[in-house]
Amino acid sequence: MIGTRTGMILDYSLRSRTCRVCVTARRMKKIPKVHTCRKNYSGSSKAMEADMVVQMVADARIKDKQLQASLSTLFSNYITQSEKLAKLESTQGNESFNNTVASKAPKNRHYGSSGSLGYRVAASVIQKNKGHKYLVDANRTAGLSPGVHTSKVSALRDLQYKKRKAIAITKKAKLRRLELKTER
Ligand SMILES: [Zn+2]
Repeated sequence: MIGTRTGMILDYSLRSRTCRVCVTARRMKKIPKVHTCRKNYSGSSKAMEADMVVQMVADARIKDKQLQASLSTLFSNYITQSEKLAKLESTQGNESFNNTVASKAPKNRHYGSSGSLGYRVAASVIQKNKGHKYLVDANRTAGLSPGVHTSKVSALRDLQYKKRKAIAITKKAKLRRLELKTER
């Protein structure tokens, strides 16, 4: 969930239709050991986003409880018409975030059913909100040395990101994107 004015990620949620531990146990015809099961969704992929929105609204600490209740009802109704929500969701910010996640959790590695996906997505969220510098901060908090190389690289990446963004918002780039879109 990305704020339209700030471009910041306000909240995020994860859905997984499989769990690695359960799958392995089933293959070995054994009862899975006690574990934190990653499977938390069994509907269609299309309704996944809507399901997450409903949960995020329900979990949000909105001061106005009446507003929260009506938002919950509104989005619950949307689940049955998921195409409408699908139109809402595909913004540029969303797409760029999806790219970040894809770089940290490549689809061909199937992190979807593993425990590390949560950390990979969380890292993507903080990278979008605070920039690559998050790595230096995380290291420091964990009591690790910040790392000269890490600091240098993250500063460089942030600079590259700023540059790319500055170019992307120019009129010319916008027109070019529109052009490409109509060609599709
Ligand atoms: Zn499981």
